[in-house]
Amino acid sequence: MTSTVEELSSTGGSGRPVRHVKVAVVGTGFSGLGMAIRMLQAGMDDFLVFERADEVGGTWRANTYPGCACDVMSLLYSFSFAPNPDWKTTFGKRQEIFDYLRDCADRFGVRPYIRFRHELLSARWDEVARHWRISTSQGDYTAQVLVTGTGYLSDPVVPQIEGLSSFAGPMFHSATWDHDVDLTGKQVAVIGTGASAIQFVPKIQPKAARLDVYQRTAPWVGPKPDKSITSREHWMRRRVPGYQRFRRNFNKNGREILAFLLSDPKRAEKTIQGMASKHLEKSITDPVLRARLTPDYTVGCKRLLFSDEWYPAVSSSNVDVVTDRIDRVTPTSVVTADGREREVDVLILGTGFQATSRPIAGRVFGTRGVALAEVWSSGMSAYRGTTVAGFPNLFMLLGPNTTLGHSSQTLMIEAQIAYVMDALRVLDKRGLSSVDVRPQAQIDYNRQLDERLAGTVWNAGNCRSWYLDGNGRNPSIWPTYTWRFRRQTQRFDLDAYQLATTVAGGPRVGQPA
Ligand code: NAP
Repeated sequence: MTSTVEELSSTGGSGRPVRHVKVAVVGTGFSGLGMAIRMLQAGMDDFLVFERADEVGGTWRANTYPGCACDVMSLLYSFSFAPNPDWKTTFGKRQEIFDYLRDCADRFGVRPYIRFRHELLSARWDEVARHWRISTSQGDYTAQVLVTGTGYLSDPVVPQIEGLSSFAGPMFHSATWDHDVDLTGKQVAVIGTGASAIQFVPKIQPKAARLDVYQRTAPWVGPKPDKSITSREHWMRRRVPGYQRFRRNFNKNGREILAFLLSDPKRAEKTIQGMASKHLEKSITDPVLRARLTPDYTVGCKRLLFSDEWYPAVSSSNVDVVTDRIDRVTPTSVVTADGREREVDVLILGTGFQATSRPIAGRVFGTRGVALAEVWSSGMSAYRGTTVAGFPNLFMLLGPNTTLGHSSQTLMIEAQIAYVMDALRVLDKRGLSSVDVRPQAQIDYNRQLDERLAGTVWNAGNCRSWYLDGNGRNPSIWPTYTWRFRRQTQRFDLDAYQLATTVAGGPRVGQPA
């Protein structure tokens, strides 16, 4: 990529020249890297990727807690265009997935386009110039198109518990694990029993002298048949043409069956819940503990978890699963509603992330300077999970209603990338300066989504999950098969958008000839 005077299109507030690119991408997780790779493969190199950290990998760079791994098979939890025949086990561990993403960044030549330690501070749509004015922690840029790949599980939730900040010992969230704290022989308390906690609790249980696991809602946990990949299988994946793709498709289609089962609570109870119940019964013999670990909602309403280590860990003699509500935290203890006080040396929060908002929404300002966070103040929504009315040329990877309760997020990311790539082609071909989704198209799309969500386990499974927002609406889940989303996003549907071309004297908005 060249950096020439022509690219220095305008000046920022500082009076210094500002570099202009066609596409600015934010984030270098699966989304941002995938977008960059696809652009390079299509011969588009007029872009930059802004990353606030100093390495790629997104969630797989940031999360380093013990036992961090993926519960979707690696063959499926990877890019379809970058198959890796060398996965060591069925389900990827954090380090292996992180290495895979770093390797992708190198192999596809993305690194020269990445600006590390560039945190996006704000992106403002300039209605006259019809481009985004981007301010980062290391300077200003402009871009015709803004693609966000900032995920939705990056800003940790610190629970509102009286006295929590008064705790005098080490305290950290699973997403910001403090590896300097040695848990050996300590009295440890863990708050939360979600996807992260069920992975790290089994790893810290053998070290702790005592481990109190504070469980507000019991999760459904299915078996995780993780295995080492044999050398014969590795050979097949490397040498037999089409074999790895066949296996990946086999996994993908198998996961689609889960979508069918989860779309109806009765069906889910008879099938998946039966399987998870058996796993619980087989793993926990003590009836009191088993009762405590038995969920009171339909499987899938909260994310279905997979582990062969969770139940053995919580039934160990040094572990207490506490189901009484936490009343308060003191500098040295946790006190539950029954008045019992348990001494604690180290407090670990496995309390999840702010998923029903997007942290970046407070930093993106559309037409008339309105923040996306303001537009979403009563709940977030988008069109095809990607575009929002009033935010021209903004494409959000893993935007609203793209979370899967049944399969690999990489499938959704790739589908969205295909949609953005087609939009970029259309912009060029038609000489458009911007596309802005029609408000009615967005409303209609979300009405259909709400209809499809009604009656599924995600909305009617009798639980309170992070899928639902404060109004009880579900702005998170994609409620059906991934192929449906792929079909919806394979082509950029111009009819749903207001189009603008830039003409002398300012922008002309409407349908170009
Ligand atoms: P999570 O699933 O949201 O779990 C948070 C836990 O903290 C829940 O058990 C919740 O209880 C509890 N909690 C929150 N506030 C509390 C409070 N004030 N008092 C007591 N308990 C409280 O968070 P996570 O485990 O970090 O996982 C988040 C998401 O990350 C997952 O759903 C998944 O999408 C992703 N993840 C994926 C993998 C993977 O293998 N693919 C691994 C890790 C994470 P309630 O249930 O009662 O709310």
